[in-house]
Amino acid sequence: MSKKIIDLRSDTSSSPTAEMIESIRLADLGNDGFGEDPTVNELQELSAKMLGKEAALLVPSGVQGNLICILAQTRKGQFMIGEADCHIFNNEDNGYADFGSLRALPVKGVRGVMDVEEVGNVLESHSGQVGLITVENTHNRAGGTVIPIENLAGIKKVADANGAIKIHVDGSRLFNAAVALNVEAGELTKPADTVMLCLSKGLCAPVGSVIAGSTEFIESAHEWRRKLGGQMRQAGIIAAPGIVALKTMVGRLQEDQRKASRFATVLNGYEGIAIDMATVQTNIVNLDLARARLNAATLVSKSLELGVAFFQTDDTVVRAVFYNDISDDDVETAIELIKKAFRT
Ligand SMILES: *Cc1c(COP(=O)(O)O)cnc(C)c1O
Repeated sequence: MSKKIIDLRSDTSSSPTAEMIESIRLADLGNDGFGEDPTVNELQELSAKMLGKEAALLVPSGVQGNLICILAQTRKGQFMIGEADCHIFNNEDNGYADFGSLRALPVKGVRGVMDVEEVGNVLESHSGQVGLITVENTHNRAGGTVIPIENLAGIKKVADANGAIKIHVDGSRLFNAAVALNVEAGELTKPADTVMLCLSKGLCAPVGSVIAGSTEFIESAHEWRRKLGGQMRQAGIIAAPGIVALKTMVGRLQEDQRKASRFATVLNGYEGIAIDMATVQTNIVNLDLARARLNAATLVSKSLELGVAFFQTDDTVVRAVFYNDISDDDVETAIELIKKAFRT
């Protein structure tokens, strides 16, 4: 018997709820290759509505969803603007370059937020060559930071002023942002042409993401999904828990935020651990160990031995992510185990 590990590496470790498992058993199924899976269709309609767009499409993963949105809206050789630390530029194996022949124009942001004026300047200096601007909300590497509505509106303004450049929102954790800002997700997608949402992170579905946009965009997204091998058959078994996720798991994201905040508040400053508290806005906490007595790699290995798993995201940075499976007791235990790691 292995002892229980408190897994704070990622909210992708979230397990599906009992209601989700039951929904799989009960799902009405059909051939989604022919658009005939009623459960997939229901998920897509619900997603479109909740994301404030005309239509939506189920895809197997967030990476594929982002890639479809990118490929459907750009031409080979164009540039794509995004925050320098964004997932698309750093963690998606350069699909935008390999499949889309796109070139990255990284804009270094502050806590994941790009400066509107700088985005405008980059658009002007690459006039006629930029195909897409991508915005990550919440911003993963920055520590789950929320992109403010005014910033999105500003980016939309400069995009429009430079030839109506398209905007994509990598909304892998869009509902974490919506809950933190206490706004409807549709408010955060309004300036965007397309959005990708992960069902399988804080929302706890076992598999899947959705992309949303105009009806016309979704038609071409179908073609790209097929080309990339993402078309599925009785995909209602994936869609059913996705529907439960959207209907039951959004409101509770604020609990993850509360747990992250508790964890960060106690550990900031402990034995030289530095946490930029201004980034602790949703369910992710980045612990900077540059000035701590234990380095990042040692903290990760010692903690794992003691029973809590973290993910090292940088030379000095260790990440902790909170989600449904992590109880309040787990948070307290994790804090104690980190302290123990420093003592032993
Ligand atoms: C997880 C994640 C993705 C990709 O989703 P997968 O389902 O893992 O393919 C994209 N963008 C961000 C910001 C993410 O955190």
